[in-house]
Amino acid sequence: MPAPATDIPAGTAMADYHEAILDRFREAGALLEGHFLLSSGRHSPVYLQCALLLQHPDLAGDLCGRLARAFADDRVATVLAPAIGGIVVAHEVARALGVRAVFAEREKGRMTLRRGFALARGERVLLVEDVVTTGGSLREVQQLAEEAGAEVVAVAALVDRTGGTDPGFGGMPLTALVRVEAPTYVPEDCPQCREGLPLVKPGSRNI
Ligand SMILES: [Zn+2]
Repeated sequence: MPAPATDIPAGTAMADYHEAILDRFREAGALLEGHFLLSSGRHSPVYLQCALLLQHPDLAGDLCGRLARAFADDRVATVLAPAIGGIVVAHEVARALGVRAVFAEREKGRMTLRRGFALARGERVLLVEDVVTTGGSLREVQQLAEEAGAEVVAVAALVDRTGGTDPGFGGMPLTALVRVEAPTYVPEDCPQCREGLPLVKPGSRNI
């Protein structure tokens, strides 16, 4: 599959290119609209899989670069993400800011810095993720950074799918490139089931 184009003019305000960015997700197959069975067993009219967008390095670099611009004046020293979804985002945002990228991963159920990664006391840290739904992983990583004495200066994601609920970063706002409304339903309450739309399991061969 050819990589989607990255022809959104640089410097365009985020709100103005929201739909154009969503089109890049759609072209990459990273945003599907229909009737989907999620791994949780719930149904959703929207399926989002950022990895399908981030597999294209030019596109990943372009979109993460746009997100990074929001933090150009924040004197960020390190970009920190929860594994796995946030790793590529952290890497590309850090490249745009000219700083380093590290990631936290679960060890015995707890978000941990492994592989020799460390944060210094007072280090200015930008937290990033691919998609924020409940914000749980990012909250854990925020706590990890604060316990290390680092200063979390902002929280960002490519996609905000919180539906407007507070992700609970201690009053720190979530900055996102795009917002996606993606309700989920138990099968009994699913409007698409009621309409008789065929249910698709994402990743299966028929999509
Ligand atoms: Zn359904």
